Parts: sequence; C-alpha cells; structure tokens
Amino acid sequence: MKLFNRTLPALAACLMALGVQAQDAPPTLDASQWRSCLAGLRNSAAFSSISNATWQQHVAQLEPDPTVLPLLNRQPEFTMPAWDYLAMLVDKERVADGQAAHQKWLSTLKQIQQRYGVEPAVVVGVWGVESNFGKITGGRLLVQSLGTLSCFGRRQSYFRGEFASALRILQEGNFAPEKFTGSWAGAFGQTQFMPSTFLRIAVDGDGDGKRDLIDSVPDALASTANFLRRSGYVTGEPWGYEVKLPAGYAGTSGRKNRRSIEAWAAQGLTLPGGQPLPRTLRNAGLLLPSGTKGPAFLVGKNFDTLYSYNASENYALAIAHLSDLVGGKNSSVAFATPWPTDDPGLSRAENRELQTLLLARGHDIGVADGLIGAKTREAIKVEQGKFNMPTNGRAGQKLLRALRGR
Ligand code: CA
Repeated sequence: MKLFNRTLPALAACLMALGVQAQDAPPTLDASQWRSCLAGLRNSAAFSSISNATWQQHVAQLEPDPTVLPLLNRQPEFTMPAWDYLAMLVDKERVADGQAAHQKWLSTLKQIQQRYGVEPAVVVGVWGVESNFGKITGGRLLVQSLGTLSCFGRRQSYFRGEFASALRILQEGNFAPEKFTGSWAGAFGQTQFMPSTFLRIAVDGDGDGKRDLIDSVPDALASTANFLRRSGYVTGEPWGYEVKLPAGYAGTSGRKNRRSIEAWAAQGLTLPGGQPLPRTLRNAGLLLPSGTKGPAFLVGKNFDTLYSYNASENYALAIAHLSDLVGGKNSSVAFATPWPTDDPGLSRAENRELQTLLLARGHDIGVADGLIGAKTREAIKVEQGKFNMPTNGRAGQKLLRALRGR
C-alpha cells in the first residue's frame, strides 16, 4: 500500500477550529510551465493508457488550482497534539452517529464480515473518521487538484501517478466528471481512497456491477473491508487495548517494536484497572502518543492495517477508539489515563458552545456551526487576552471554562 498521509476532509473542516488552517497565500503559477508540464505528461509512459479523447475532454482546457499548494505542506496529524486530534474525531456525536450507522447497515456489514473477515464496528470506525459516515467527502475537482500537484510543488512524481489513475477512472466511465470530487490531495468518496487505491482495491458491494465509492454505501463499506484485508487484517484479533504503565516506566516503546504479551506483562504493564493483560494479541507494540505520562496502548497487527489507511498513528488510534465505542467494547470517550495537558481539546459540540458564548459577547463570527474560522480565531484571541491566557487563537477547554464562568 502506498502510504501518503491525506488530510481528511472531515478533519480539514475541523482544523480551522484549531487555528491551523492554511494561511499562506496561494502562489501565482506560471502558465507556460503548466502547459509544458502537461505536454510532457501526455507523452510520458504513465499516461500511455489515457486516450486522446479522454485527454481532450478532461485535460486540454484544464486550469491549475494554486490553492492546493499551501495545503501540501501541512500535515496536521503530525503537528497537532494527540488530544486535540482525538477530541475532534472521536466525540459523543460521532459515536452516536456511528452506532446509528452500525444499526442501519448491520445486514450489509455482516455480509462484508463473512466475505472479508473484518468486524462491522471496525469498518464503521474507518467510515466515520474518513468521511463522517459519507457526509464530508471533499468538493474539489480531482483532475484539477491532481493535475496541479503533478506540475507544481513537492511530490510531483507521486501525484502524477494519481493523476493518471484519476483519468483512467474517468475513461472507464466510473463517475461523471462533475461528481468526481474529493479532498485537495485527491482522496475521494466515502472511503477517501486515492485514485490508484480505487483501481486496485475498490469492490462492488451492492452487486450492480459498478464500484461506486461516492454514492453506494455497500460499495464503500466493502471496499474499506477489502482494503483492511489486503493490508493483513487478522480476523478476530482486536486492534489492541489501553494499558497502564508501571510507575517510572523507562522501557521500550513504539508501534513497530513488537513483543509478546508475556514480555509486556513481565515489564509490569497491566490493564488500566490493574488486571493482567489479556492474551488476545499474538504480539504488540507499545504506543505512547504523548509520552509515558499520557494514555498508553498495546497495539497489534490490526492497528497497523488502520495505520496503513493514512500513515498516522493518531489517525489509526482515532479509528480504533471509535470502533470500540461503536461496537460496545468501550463506553467512555475519555481514555482511562488522561492526556498530559491542563488544556484538552474541544469536541465539535463544545466548539459550537464556544462559538455561542463568543456571539453572546458581541463577536461577529457568523453562525455557531462548530467549525471555527478566521473571525472566530480573532475573537478567541481577544477573549484570551482578557483572561491573561496566551493569545494563540486555539479553542481549548480553558477558554471554554473561562467563558462559561463569566
Ligand atoms: Ca456497486
């Protein structure tokens, strides 16, 4: 599996709340460089399966989109604290939506489980984190984004392969061009597959002969399960579980540094309540998203399959945790060990409450939709200043508590 960390549209919509939206002005792109780049691509081997008719229809009149380029250099999954990332992606709303989706699609999910060996709640967890259960799939025209990224910025060779794959998908008549939209980096549909992943992995879940990850939920869910299976999913094994470290733990850690459960038990690790570690994983790595002071997890092979979806451990943990909550293996959105911060992140409902409080204080920030844009960040800075907090525009629990108390 090609690992490329895609900023999820569901996440991108939330990023503004953290003040990490792209603020860089898009560059001015050189028109002659664009034309000569496209001409070069047309004659390259990667595009040899694209017919002249397809090229004429989809590329000949294409204009580049410079607004994708500032996004290329942002990898919020890596720069954001784990507690902000998890707070946005796993909150009570998403758990409730996931439980409803799990119920609604249960017969489909059970058929998928029989065929691919992946449990329903895990498939639903991926769906929820990837596209908020199909609600947020990205609105950028894929051919335009991928064409631009093929000719400007870093990682052009990677995006050229995806550009060619996107054109092949259109050439094969899978989607109407105007429906073929997705995230800035080219991930699309309810599974947020990259075009090359679609060509290799997508399957027809509802039996109509088409692989429609945009409008068919059964196709999207089956394709997700197929992706996990192809990544080495072990049927019946959990992704892992939260553990408690012994006081002063200074031993080994890391997702890839796998040891037997017996070895971890010998190091003094237990379940959060002190019970012995269950022997449900063949072996596991110790994941410490925020060091030894924060929540700790033993993670096995199936965690790696979630990781392979988006090359981010925090992302994989969000799916894993959401899956446990949807499937009833866990009932608490908070982990047993709290995050090592005195200012945790906000859920989407808390973002809306924060916005309502700011509106009540006369800040002109539009509607309280839980997505905090530039105006709200400015309002947050003003209020942070009044409370002698760092004026960084970040929406966190401290400011929310301060505003509630006034
Ligand atoms: Ca289908």
